[in-house]
Amino acid sequence: KAKEAGRDQFCFYEARLTEKAREKMFLETELRTAIAQGALSLNFQPQFDLANGQMVGSEVLARWRHPERGMIPPTDFIAIAEESGLILPLGEWVLREACLQAELWRQAGLGPHRIAVNVSGLQIERDDFVATVAGILAETGLPPDWLELEVTETYMMRQPEKSVRVLEGLRGLGLALALDDFGTGQSSLSYLKRLPVQTLKIDRSFITDLPFGENEAAITRAIVALGHSLHLEVLAEGVETPAQADFLRGLGCDRGQGYMYSRPVDAATFENILRKTTVYPSAKDDTPSAAL
Ligand code: C2E
Ligand code: MG
Ligand code: MG
Ligand code: MG
Repeated sequence: KAKEAGRDQFCFYEARLTEKAREKMFLETELRTAIAQGALSLNFQPQFDLANGQMVGSEVLARWRHPERGMIPPTDFIAIAEESGLILPLGEWVLREACLQAELWRQAGLGPHRIAVNVSGLQIERDDFVATVAGILAETGLPPDWLELEVTETYMMRQPEKSVRVLEGLRGLGLALALDDFGTGQSSLSYLKRLPVQTLKIDRSFITDLPFGENEAAITRAIVALGHSLHLEVLAEGVETPAQADFLRGLGCDRGQGYMYSRPVDAATFENILRKTTVYPSAKDDTPSAAL
């Protein structure tokens, strides 16, 4: 009897595992097709200068709407993409599409504005990554200082020597670098000093409990102080309430991003935000001779 029950249970687990594996294979195949057909899309989430309230940039976030299953969250499909290697074509598509879009906005006189694109460790690991980025910038015409790449701490720690080299190559192209999810990995402080990044992004998990979570407040204060002492900018993500924004501003945190300001929005909606926030030169500035 017991043996039989054990067997049933074993079969049950096996069936569940098989179903999980099948589901993963299904999504992988569908994702491959979606990338090849350009069926993914991009959302943009504004980033603000906390001191003067101006919009200074946006983070680009990939979206996948499956024809039958609807929106699939990036946490799910990015994981599948990383396990299967699809993150390479996906990441390249996102970067090219984001640069194309930003260049269209730039040519329309909207901005100045910087787009922040997430990059996976697997992309950085490729020997041709710096050349790929240089190629996309040349092809789209986007000036490098309109682009920021977000890399995560976890990967940097896995391949410290190589990642420093690649990041230096990227810096050489004239673009900006940010360390994403900062505080959740285990980078040593001496290593952080060697990384050629300009911005630390404090992970949302610390911001959520501000301003009342004592540990989170202490950690956030420490990250801002650490960043500034290394001459880095600090950006807080996941800012949802005015109390959080006030607290961060009080610490001297440089930039903020989160639902309080705006959720990630599609390109058309973001373009409307850009139109409202662009500072157009006044007629007087347009006629310098009149001033002389
Ligand atoms: P991330 O880079 O840390 O992006 C921030 C995530 O926090 C986004 O989730 C954003 O929608 C969410 N968020 C922003 N503000 C708030 C807030 O105030 N409250 C809450 N609750 N959430 C907020 P999303 O779009 O679901 O992306 C999740 C993760 O997927 C990203 O985390 C990033 O690691 C990854 N990802 C997204 N697009 C790409 C991509 O193109 N390439 C790569 N490699 N990864 C991507
Ligand atoms: Mg990010
Ligand atoms: Mg982040
Ligand atoms: Mg995060």
